[in-house]
Amino acid sequence: AGERSWEEIRKDFPVLDQEVNGRKLIYFDNAATSQKPLSVIEAMTHYYEHDNANVHRGLHELSNRATAGYEGARARLAAYLGAQDEEIIFTRGTTESINLVARAWGEEYLKAGDVVLLTEMEHHSNIVPWQLLAQRRGVKLRFIPVTPEGTLDLSNLDQLLDGVKLFSFVHISNSLGTINPAAELVRRAKAAGATVLVDAAQSAGHLPLDVKELGCDFLALSGHKMCGPTGIGLLYGRREILDAMPPFHGGGEMISTVTFEGSQYKPSPYRFEAGTPAIAEAIGLAAAAEYIDGIGRARIWEHDQLLAREGLAVLSQIPGIRILGPLDQRAGLVAFTLQSAHAHDVVSMADQEGLALRGGHHCTQPLLRKLGVPASSRASFAFYNTIEEIQRMGEILKKVQTFFA
Ligand code: PMP
Repeated sequence: AGERSWEEIRKDFPVLDQEVNGRKLIYFDNAATSQKPLSVIEAMTHYYEHDNANVHRGLHELSNRATAGYEGARARLAAYLGAQDEEIIFTRGTTESINLVARAWGEEYLKAGDVVLLTEMEHHSNIVPWQLLAQRRGVKLRFIPVTPEGTLDLSNLDQLLDGVKLFSFVHISNSLGTINPAAELVRRAKAAGATVLVDAAQSAGHLPLDVKELGCDFLALSGHKMCGPTGIGLLYGRREILDAMPPFHGGGEMISTVTFEGSQYKPSPYRFEAGTPAIAEAIGLAAAAEYIDGIGRARIWEHDQLLAREGLAVLSQIPGIRILGPLDQRAGLVAFTLQSAHAHDVVSMADQEGLALRGGHHCTQPLLRKLGVPASSRASFAFYNTIEEIQRMGEILKKVQTFFA
């Protein structure tokens, strides 16, 4: 037995073994979406080749297998987060999970004048649903400021939390790489009487996460950022909260009885899963959780930190670079600007060298505006990336910088 090497682990990802524009692909857009190991691809193929049927309704063999696969996936994800099965609602991803809370919980429990606290480093998906709720319900939005270094300014947290009904914050920032002190934030918000939602889109596949230890009420994640398929994610909700929450979407599967006059809803999680769910995707996500825990999230996080340090060291040496976010204590993603070139030129020229970066505002427009950055390029790493790839990125970006200077 013994640990598999990172080199061996990398071979689980068939997509990485290819040339792009005549160069060996370097995939550094993992914060946008991660690659998928064979075990995830095979779990989904196996389901379609052998078990495909609709869930929860048939009394036939295939339907029973599909149901077992789907509910087994729920149990696997519950274990991944230290939750109970009934506390896991499958959604299309982080965005839908946050919209679910804003709609179902927000419209039931928030009224005009109530305060929702966010941070200035939120992804658009943790801003816009609350703005929509503000328009519908007159709820007020408040933001924890971000310092020029790219961390949360918590010096006035007690005042900011005063009277807050809901606090929703990002665990790891997708544009700054900042790791927010989630446990402390949850503890202080709960002490102030707030309900707390954690956006774990960028952390769920990278570090150990236990919702009971964290103490949050809701947690949202996307499968596709943790080696799983697109089209699936989840919302964790504390059981007592979900039991008291009205439905989100109406339709089949979420009701116990329907008459023309009205309906009675099933308990959680079914109440929140109207219609035919993403069955193969849930099975794929469970395979992803299994795969990640097979390597070990503590080991992945340690390796992430190594790649982050190397990424920062290599990027710091490029003339005219500005690195966004904190210089220590950060996740394995680094956004930057080059004095000489626009982010889109950086990304296009990198692509010519087989290097996949992201360019733009990374769905955090208000944050970049505040930092005075119109657009940035971003390199985001995963455990299957290598130090050699990071060094190669350094060479490519030096070329880009010289070309445009
Ligand atoms: N929050 C964060 C921090 C993210 O990085 C992302 C994806 N970039 C999202 C939310 C939205 O995730 P999705 O598009 O999968 O719903």
